[in-house]
Formats: sequence, C-alpha cells, structure tokens
Amino acid sequence: SPAPALRQVAVFGATGSIGASALDVIARHPDRLRARVLAAGSNVAALVALCVRHRPDDAVIADPAGFAALRDGLRAVGLPTRAHAGPEALEAFAAAPECDTVVAAIVGAAGLPSTLAAARAGKRLLLANKESLVLAGELLMRHAQAAGSEIIPIDSEHSAIFQCLRSCDASRGVRRVILTASGGPFRGRSRAELADVTPAQAVAHPKWSMGPKISVDSATLMNKGLEVIEAHHLFGLEAERIGVWVHPQSLVHSLVEFVDGSTLAQMGLPDMRTTLAVGLAWPERVDSGVAGLDLLQQGRLDFEAPDLTAFPCLALAWEAMRAGGTAPAILNAANEVAVDAFLAGKIAFLAIPALVQHALSTLPSTNADTLEALLAADADARRITAAALTRQTAHA
Ligand code: NAD
Ligand code: MG
Repeated sequence: SPAPALRQVAVFGATGSIGASALDVIARHPDRLRARVLAAGSNVAALVALCVRHRPDDAVIADPAGFAALRDGLRAVGLPTRAHAGPEALEAFAAAPECDTVVAAIVGAAGLPSTLAAARAGKRLLLANKESLVLAGELLMRHAQAAGSEIIPIDSEHSAIFQCLRSCDASRGVRRVILTASGGPFRGRSRAELADVTPAQAVAHPKWSMGPKISVDSATLMNKGLEVIEAHHLFGLEAERIGVWVHPQSLVHSLVEFVDGSTLAQMGLPDMRTTLAVGLAWPERVDSGVAGLDLLQQGRLDFEAPDLTAFPCLALAWEAMRAGGTAPAILNAANEVAVDAFLAGKIAFLAIPALVQHALSTLPSTNADTLEALLAADADARRITAAALTRQTAHA
C-alpha cells in the first residue's frame, strides 16, 4: 500500500502537558508526521528548546512582548525557524494553508480564537481545549461542519466515545454514554474535609499528569462537568443521555451503551499519548510509546456514583448545560477566575463552587447565537467573579 502523506501539524500550547504528548508521538513518526508550527503562551525559553528539538518552520508566542526574545533566541541557537508574536499571529497560523492538522491545546477560553479559526479553515482539529466547546460549542460545531473540519477529541473520555462509536453506522443506535471520572485527589472526602485543602494537594492528581488548571478542575469535579458539556456538543447528546461514573483506576476511559443492550468500553493506561496517536493517525493506528493494558496485573476495576454534595461543580455544570444559552460560558469564565485565585493562594477550595454559583445566579442566561454575545457573557462573568473575590479576600 502507498505510504501515507506527510501530515503537517501545528501544535498550539506546545509547551504544555498535551503539547508534550503530541510532540512525543510526532517525533516517533518522522515519515508521516511533522511539527510545522509550534505556539505557546509566554514561556519563550521553553518554546525555543522545543524548536531545537522539533525544527518547525514557524514559532509563535502569544505574548506580544515576547517577540524580540523569541527571534533572538532562535537566532542564537542557529535555527532558521521564523518568529511571530501576538494573538493575531496565533489565529493566522491556525488557518494557514501550510498545516492540515491543528492540535488545539491552549488552556482556557484563550484558546477559542485559534480553535475557531482552525475549524473555519477546515483543518483536522485535534481538540484538547475543551473550554472552547463549553464557551461556544454550538458555534464551533457549526463552523466545523460548514468547513468540513474533522474534529477528533483529545480528551481521554471523548476519544474513548469517538472510538466506540465507530462500531456502527449511526449515532441513532446510542442509548447513552457514560463518562468515567477518576474522582481526583480528594475522592471519598466529605465537604467538611475539603475546607483546608491546599493548591499543592489539589494538583497532585493520583492518575494523570496534567497542567495546573485541569488538575484543579479534576479535584473539584468541574472537569467532569465541562466534559459533560463537551460530550453534548461533540456527539449531539442531550443531558439525560450522558452519565458519569467514578472509576478510580482510570483504565476504562468511557463507555457507550447501544439500544440493543450492548455496551462498549475503551480501555488503556492513563497516558494521553494514546489519545494523541489516535487523533494524529486516524483511521490508522500507530505506536504511541504507551504499553498495553495488563488487566491480570491490574486486578480490579471499581465504579461508584459521584458525590454531588462534596463536589457541587459537577451539578452546576449540568445545570448550566440544561439552561443553555450563555450559561455554560458564564460557568466556564467564573471557574477560570476562581481556579486562578485558588492556585494563587487567595481563596479556599470550597470558594470555587461558591463563586461559580454566584456568577450563574447573578447573570441571567441569554440567547447565545453569536460570538459577540458569548464573549460578552464571558467578560461579564469574569468581572462579577473578580469583584466577588475582592470582597471575599477583604473579609478574610
Ligand atoms: P498546560 O497548562 O500544561 O499547558 C497550557 C498551554 O497553553 C501552554 O503551552 C501555554 O503556553 C499555553 N497558553 C496558556 N495561555 C495561553 C494564551 N493566552 N495564548 C496562547 N497559549 C497559551 O495545560 P494542559 O494540561 O496541557 O491542558 C491544555 C488543554 O487540554 C486544556 O484545555 C485541558 O483542559 C485540555 N486537556 C488536557 C489533558 C491533560 O492530560 N493534560 C487532558 C484532557 C484535556
Ligand atoms: Mg478528560
């Protein structure tokens, strides 16, 4: 059979955890994958180091102030890689014809413009930036469909569902999907036992090694809430057909139950390189560097219901999804502000759900047909949450 064409990949969020997994898989397959563009937020030194290793044609730093340092850093190591800076450059490269594939792995709503640009340009979109789906899911899916952009989820649960759904012709045959959740570092604790937990404890995830924001989201279960909304958009499923089971071993990545009573689950060791290999090579399979799963050695698989009293963020996300309109955008923005404040040591862990709840109950959910309306809701929620935060820290 003919050799597959060389896939030209832009990695957005290259210096992050998902970026590292993507580049690890790409480097294993120089005959079929090439890192053509690398982009990061503000860490110029880390971006230059990745350029030395992966030799892209172009490097983009989102922080406009980073341009000179990036240009000089690339020159100092003798690389021909061109330097670019600023959010407009990010957006331009997401849509540029040089790349056919975009790994969208920027954290937070900051990833929306480049993710949307890649979808509108009809790229294969390896979508890790779940916040863009929560903030503007309908819009993103509509643009992707219109432009023929193939979205492949880079979230272990959604990749699992994506793979299970390929077993039959139509999604009409699906009764429900079950997202699995590790339960995070605080699984089994009561609400009272969460009052004093620290950022260091919250980011120490028992199964996955991830960036700080998603690690805190896993600790509050907001991550699972964002993933329920993500699944709703990616697979066109209503709230009633998306369940969550806590599965502490993190070996079953999610399940799909069909109308005939058959349930398919996708399994593997918790390592995102598998998910990235699926997206980069699909519909083929390539080596990802991840070992196979030895269930005899693992011994057991446990499942339990999530505790919505200790972890109200999951319930808040379900509520926001049911409310629709701008509610998920409000939820997401308030959560980003609250998580930043928690990581900076300014607020307690339980203030995160309290601040999200505050934003959702203060701001009415309105129609969300346009990007402008969604971005306005995002900005309002950030402002309201920042103000509530200031009051809270002033009283503390
Ligand atoms: P991370 O913190 O390790 O990396 C974030 C990346 O985004 C960095 O490269 C950073 O430079 C870049 N960035 C931050 N702000 C930016 C901005 N304003 N403009 C441009 N770039 C910016 O995060 P991560 O764990 O790799 O997660 C990235 C995304 O993938 C998140 O949306 C997360 O929810 C999702 N995700 C991650 C995992 C995982 O295992 N890490 C699993 C599923 C989904
Ligand atoms: Mg996930």
